[in-house]
Amino acid sequence: MIFRRIFIVYAAVVLLAGLVTETYVTSAVRDDHINNLKRHSEDKITLISREISFTKGTLDRFCRGIKDELNTRVTVILNDGKVIGDSDRDSLTMDNHLERTEVQQAASFGTGMTIRHSETMDHDFLYVAKKVTTKDGGTGFIRLAVPLQDIDRAVNLLRLKVVLVVGLVLLVTWGGSVWQTDHLRRLLGQIAAFSRALSRGELDKRLFLNRAGEFSEIADNLTSMSVTIQGMMSQNDEEKNRLNVILRSVPDALLIIDAKGIVTLSSSSAKDFFGAAPAAGTGFADVVRNHEFSALIEEVRKTLTPGMTELSVGTDLEKHLAIRVSPLFYKGSDLSGFVAVFHDITEIKKLEQVRKDFVANVSHELKTPITAIMGFSDTLLEGAIDDREHAVKFIRTIRANSERINSIVDDLMTISKIELGVIRVEKSMVDINNVFENIMDLFGDKAAAKNITLSVRNRHGISGVSADRDRLVQILTNLVDNAIKYTDTGGVIFGIDREGAGAELFVEDTGVGVPAKYLSRLGERFFRVDPARSRKMGGTGLGLAIVKHLVKAHGWNIHFESRPGKGTKVRISLT
Ligand code: ADP
Repeated sequence: MIFRRIFIVYAAVVLLAGLVTETYVTSAVRDDHINNLKRHSEDKITLISREISFTKGTLDRFCRGIKDELNTRVTVILNDGKVIGDSDRDSLTMDNHLERTEVQQAASFGTGMTIRHSETMDHDFLYVAKKVTTKDGGTGFIRLAVPLQDIDRAVNLLRLKVVLVVGLVLLVTWGGSVWQTDHLRRLLGQIAAFSRALSRGELDKRLFLNRAGEFSEIADNLTSMSVTIQGMMSQNDEEKNRLNVILRSVPDALLIIDAKGIVTLSSSSAKDFFGAAPAAGTGFADVVRNHEFSALIEEVRKTLTPGMTELSVGTDLEKHLAIRVSPLFYKGSDLSGFVAVFHDITEIKKLEQVRKDFVANVSHELKTPITAIMGFSDTLLEGAIDDREHAVKFIRTIRANSERINSIVDDLMTISKIELGVIRVEKSMVDINNVFENIMDLFGDKAAAKNITLSVRNRHGISGVSADRDRLVQILTNLVDNAIKYTDTGGVIFGIDREGAGAELFVEDTGVGVPAKYLSRLGERFFRVDPARSRKMGGTGLGLAIVKHLVKAHGWNIHFESRPGKGTKVRISLT
């Protein structure tokens, strides 16, 4: 492209120069030659005029003689234009020549000249006429017709040379511009290829130009531009990645909402909160269908300060969310949107409720024995102390209630110690059959007293279990104690079984059982199916809670199965 343009300009200049040169030189050369011819012809005419007389009749022969010597047509014309001698034709048959241009000019100025094309000879002739006076005093005109064939040939030759030179110059120009622009074209090609790669996003390419002159700066600028863009892109990528990692890892649902209320970005956990990940371009009201949230957004829009609220969502309003909405300002002080963070506080709420219930339960559990102690103490103080028989009974009751308070406090402390990590579970290989024997020793009499059977089963002859022996004994003690407590007929059987790849401890009874709706609540502190019966038997309602904690501390799992009226089976899988 650039090459073609440069070449066209060069070629136009060369052709114009050639044309001007040709026109000027050929016309100058021709004019000069004709002037020379004219001068020589005039001299010849002067010489010829000395040899002739206008009064001696026809001069044709004389003229032919002259032509033989000068190789020029000679014509002798009288003042009235009559031709009296001609070297080429018979003068008698020739027209009057007075009107010929050269004769007219000679009549007026002494000499005349004209160039005419001869149809017969088919080339130009220079006609030079001169008014002459002969020796005898006669006047007339002598005209010479000089063929311009030679000069035309010479001019044509010159023209040919000029054309050749122009052609040669054009060729050199073409070669020169090819040579000159080749390097330029290569540089431009490299720059174009580099910028194409840049526009395709291939930013790791670099541009090195050889002998680039002024282009070096362009190359340097382009290269540093690509380096800058690459830096900006990688920074951008890094920021995007960082943002994605944050959005993927935050447990809270996070929505970025633009000023028009469209959700533009959301964290991965948003789909757990709202069922599905919000599609780009969805309005926030379609993602969070809650008028309190919409009201909060409107409030933040108005006040331009962060706002908070708590919501209960889900079909049974079982999920509790704490929401914080902050205004976003990307540019200046104009509101660009909002960031809404949804924090799931269901667990916190549940724990809060558990704590409240716990305090209420503890107070309630302690209140009964304390009231009894206070009541019997008052009775004693009011005089019953002197009634020895009753006094002893009352003091026994006071003692029993104190024991009850003591065991409640003991159990609470055990739970608290497990929770605080004061009671640690340190596993070692425990001889399980030995543990079973201990339990049998502990509860044998109690079962016999209730007239129910108590037996151990270890079908697979498992001998060792990795556990904390004391805690394992405590677990089995609580469970077997419960089983005996809540069984009136039949018996209790406990032991160990294979379960899949692992083993499973179990305690099974044929007692009262637990209604299905309460099964999930077994192990909650102070939960009892029948509080009166439990209390009557000295239960604190904390035994299963302790079991659950200890099982968890071992890394095991506990599972309750029960059929009211038929019996209960507690299973602990040791995996
Ligand atoms: P408690 O001191 O009342 O026995 P636990 O925490 O040991 O407290 O047990 C909680 C409640 O679970 C009991 O009050 C009882 O209703 C029920 N329970 C526990 N074990 C059994 C069982 N083997 N058979 C029937 N009910 C049981």
